[in-house]
Amino acid sequence: MARKKPNPYCPVLGCGAKRPHLDDPTIQSVYRQFSDPSTLALRVKCAIVELISSLETDLRERLVFAYLSRLRQTEELYYRALYVLFIAKPQEVPHVFSGVLPNGFRAIYRAVNSDIFEGRGELETPQPGLSGGEFTALQMLNDSAHASFPFFLTCISVVRDPEYQKDFDKILTHLKIRCSYLNYMEQAFAAGRRKEDVMVGVKNIHKPASAWVQKSTEPHGAGNTPG
Ligand SMILES: [Zn+2]
Repeated sequence: MARKKPNPYCPVLGCGAKRPHLDDPTIQSVYRQFSDPSTLALRVKCAIVELISSLETDLRERLVFAYLSRLRQTEELYYRALYVLFIAKPQEVPHVFSGVLPNGFRAIYRAVNSDIFEGRGELETPQPGLSGGEFTALQMLNDSAHASFPFFLTCISVVRDPEYQKDFDKILTHLKIRCSYLNYMEQAFAAGRRKEDVMVGVKNIHKPASAWVQKSTEPHGAGNTPG
């Protein structure tokens, strides 16, 4: 396959920009609003808090379609924030802010999973489907965000069987924990802590207890990548 030529206006491979992203007044505004890491963490936290409030209303009113169709927004907000805060090179940030292709959720998720979750993310782990076969959470999030026909089928199954609704509250709790993590990032950056130091903290708060147990039982000098 022919290698894509580098774009002189943007370092992101495959970007078709015809001028630097920051020449666009809209992207300049986005940059002004979100280039401070503390402000970015604060705004993303506030957005997820609003979505949680709305999702809680959906659950009270048993609006399963509305509830499930917006879960990708909460995921995408969180992963994109981590990507911009800790992974994207400074010269790539205007591209991410522009939203133009390539800017897909899957690539951002994979980068965050590799660099922050140390491969423990489960969005691409195959799981048994409601009506046979397998699915991944990422596929389900994409189907739901696009309101596809397979997603309608999922909603019908979920409405018919309360067993499939048992994790709804857990999802909201999980989102609230993420807001507390964003709060940590907001405050750490506001206190002037370096990105590298905040990232160590963020990697640590995402570690499950099992990873700490494993690390403490590893021989001295062993790698710290959990299985
Ligand atoms: Zn670009």
